[in-house]
Amino acid sequence: MQLDPTTGWCHGIAHCHSPNFNERPTGEISLLVIHNISLPPGQFGCGQVHALFQNRLDPHGHPYFAGIVHLTVSAHFLIERDGTVTQFVSCLDRAWHAGASRFCERDNCNDFSIGIELEGTDDTPFTEAQYQVLIELTRQLQAGYPALTPQRVCGHSDIAPGRKTDPGPAFDWQRLRAAGVVA
Ligand SMILES: [Zn+2]
Repeated sequence: MQLDPTTGWCHGIAHCHSPNFNERPTGEISLLVIHNISLPPGQFGCGQVHALFQNRLDPHGHPYFAGIVHLTVSAHFLIERDGTVTQFVSCLDRAWHAGASRFCERDNCNDFSIGIELEGTDDTPFTEAQYQVLIELTRQLQAGYPALTPQRVCGHSDIAPGRKTDPGPAFDWQRLRAAGVVA
């Protein structure tokens, strides 16, 4: 895994292009947002997150899907349970992961953030492989985009309180603090 900050793409991982992105209004990359997702909820390794981010989710594939099939969403990265990383959107572009959000008095965090999804749920411990890859990816992003300081790594629930709960209580922030990537 090697980030090329000039293109915004990581080499050595799978690329699965999402159409759900647009241009960053100012080009600023100064916030890293950590999420969790699983589709169907609580089931892992089904490949349906990729389908959601590419607008090809089958509404009949699971009762839950009918309610979300209309969403046009994406994240820059997904880290699956075994540590497999997939990139959907260039870091230079604006992925659609945060929704209505606010960080340090600024709205619309998608404008200036990178979104990383961990395959999981709020209450299921994440895997060792996921932490290792998340820490390495965060290090590379912080090296490539120096405005992503350890003070500017947060959870989705931090920027959309009351609306979002991820990455959830099972996410071990201390692991990231010990690695020096989160303050
Ligand atoms: Zn989220």
